[in-house]
Amino acid sequence: MRPSSLNPLFASAQTLSGIGPRLILLLKKCLELPPGVAEPRVIDMLWHMPTGVIDRRAEPQLAAAVPGTIVTLQLRVLKHKPPPRGNKKVPYKVTCEDDTGRIDLVFFHAERKFIEKQLPVGELRFVSGRIERYGEALQMAHPDYIVSPEARDELPMLEPVYPLTAGLSGKIVVKATRQAIDRIPDLPEWQDERWLAARNWPPFKEALSRVHHPTDAQDVSNGAGPWQRLAYDELLAGQLAFALVRQNLKAERGRRLAGDGSIQAKIVDALPFSLTTSQKTALGEIAEDLAAPHRMLRLLQGDVGSGKTVVALMAMAVAIEAGAQAALMAPTEVLARQHAETIAPLAEAAGLGIGLLTGREKGKTRDAILERLLSGEIQILIGTHALFQSDVQFKDLAVAVIDEQHRFGVHQRLALQAKGANNDTNVLVMTATPIPRTLLMTHYGDLDVSKLTEKPAGRKPITTKAIPLELLERLIDRIRTQLAEGAQIYWVCPLIETSELSDLAAAEERFAHLRQTFGDGVGLLHGGLSGKEKDETMAAFAEGQLKILVATTVIEVGVNVPNANIMVIEHAERFGLAQLHQLRGRVGRGSRESFCMLLYKAPLGETAEQRLKMMEETEDGFKIAEKDLELRGGGEILGARQSGAPGFRVAEVPGYENLLAAASDDAALVLANDPNLNSPRGKALRTLLYVFECDEAVRLFRAA
Ligand code: ADP
Ligand code: MG
Repeated sequence: MRPSSLNPLFASAQTLSGIGPRLILLLKKCLELPPGVAEPRVIDMLWHMPTGVIDRRAEPQLAAAVPGTIVTLQLRVLKHKPPPRGNKKVPYKVTCEDDTGRIDLVFFHAERKFIEKQLPVGELRFVSGRIERYGEALQMAHPDYIVSPEARDELPMLEPVYPLTAGLSGKIVVKATRQAIDRIPDLPEWQDERWLAARNWPPFKEALSRVHHPTDAQDVSNGAGPWQRLAYDELLAGQLAFALVRQNLKAERGRRLAGDGSIQAKIVDALPFSLTTSQKTALGEIAEDLAAPHRMLRLLQGDVGSGKTVVALMAMAVAIEAGAQAALMAPTEVLARQHAETIAPLAEAAGLGIGLLTGREKGKTRDAILERLLSGEIQILIGTHALFQSDVQFKDLAVAVIDEQHRFGVHQRLALQAKGANNDTNVLVMTATPIPRTLLMTHYGDLDVSKLTEKPAGRKPITTKAIPLELLERLIDRIRTQLAEGAQIYWVCPLIETSELSDLAAAEERFAHLRQTFGDGVGLLHGGLSGKEKDETMAAFAEGQLKILVATTVIEVGVNVPNANIMVIEHAERFGLAQLHQLRGRVGRGSRESFCMLLYKAPLGETAEQRLKMMEETEDGFKIAEKDLELRGGGEILGARQSGAPGFRVAEVPGYENLLAAASDDAALVLANDPNLNSPRGKALRTLLYVFECDEAVRLFRAA
């Protein structure tokens, strides 16, 4: 349990004065919340980092003020000049002075009462904002701050600037974060004192205070001490959490899962191909992990089409040979069903019971599946994140395979692991995204990796061409010829409905157009369809009744229709490299010559042009991933930003590689000397883990 001293930080942000039900909704819109957190909390205000600072420290007299700059003035209010009645176009002006000159404060669409109250004639006021010259006179339109001498402290001389949303002002955020800082209790120092001293980093609370309440314009910079300190805290918490998970895995006297090979042999016999050397090597590594007395946590990396599914099935077969069960989890329903269909004939040949569980299995059907699962009749359960639900109980889950892992977070992985009777489920995660080492470390810690480096035999290269939308008719002519030769075509569009983004090719519109041109053989697949409709459409395409499948990116991940040989991607300039590569991987799986046509809208931006060129030049997923990292930065490659997976709030990778490496070493060293975090620093580090919400990790050593 989280120490109660931290409770004030984890209370709803509504407990801060000034934040009510309306503002909480706006905050929810603009704060980045961790997965599963429905309402912004006090601590989320603290992690809402400023992007810059407004410097109000110039306090000139009027005669010396430089027009166009931000200044703070000490003024006496002389007179009010309201606009003539009924004339809304004329602004309300208030003339003020100091010993050296005069200035008009100007308000458009002003509320008279409000201004009279703020600027009583004859009084002194501190006023801050941008000063301008208007003809001969000086003026300031809508000052940012007007405060009385008693309230002088409320005027931030260095004002942090925050990401905001309509209706949420910077002032509100400043006020809320100030209160949030006051709520930080006295916490033990969890960093090594010498390390802090060597870098001149402030204590935790001071670091947050200086970022949100800067005393130096430098403070709000991610290269400065306060920010670096917080980034290091976050990275260390992450590395420590992963190290704890690993330590726990290793220490656990897991069971040895040794198969006799009988089921694997039946599956191999039923395959219409033989395994590649890469697949065999990966399987060997997996079998070794499973046979060892610790839990497996392994990542299987392989480009799209490299044949990861078969490897997964064989890994699951080992569990079943050892008398246990296995689960395969996919990120989307379409993909889960596809896996089930691929696996079904092989499972039948090997005499295995399989089941499918997604959000669509409900009521009696679902109950029946759960019953067969608990009795052990279902040996392999395939599904979506529906597998996480607490009433899904296995008789004896020994191997869990997670496909396209980057869409799931650590939390979910731990939840699945816990489905095993003794919390001893072996986990294999599969991804088509080649993840650079530094990113692997930040998101998964130090896990074992197997790679599928070769493509199955018989794959033909895919010819990729970028063509401007103006040449659409020519493309359609070519497609007509191809269709006559038996081709099948994916046609991907970025959005489903023409809305305010009406310049985006809408799948529905394209569908109507292609149907007019090519007739009934054109189908449409998008996220708005019911599950059943999706299945039917997908099946019709797989069976060849549909020749052209117009789709939104629902087909992005993993769909396998070997006969499809042309991929058209419309508005290709709007897709990221990783996504384009994934999409292209849907073709080139059969014996037919394959094409990928990247339709773009000219003119192309520079980055988009580089992306499309890269696609034309290579099919090598690793090269593409490197380029992608170069063009976009790390978080997006992992899909972490889009999916709300465990992203970072202070530390950004790339950018903090050195700190990350240090944090990783630090975590290893700490645990080597103090595996249960019982030393004074160890105890302080537990607090750090709670501050960064790595509660699962803390649970692991509490159990130990
Ligand atoms: P991915 O790694 O993208 O998940 P899949 O597992 O879907 O790839 O495999 C893609 C296609 O390659 C499937 O049709 C599968 O049957 C086929 N395949 C897998 N392994 C081999 C192999 N060793 N030889 C030939 N085809 C294979
Ligand atoms: Mg796949």
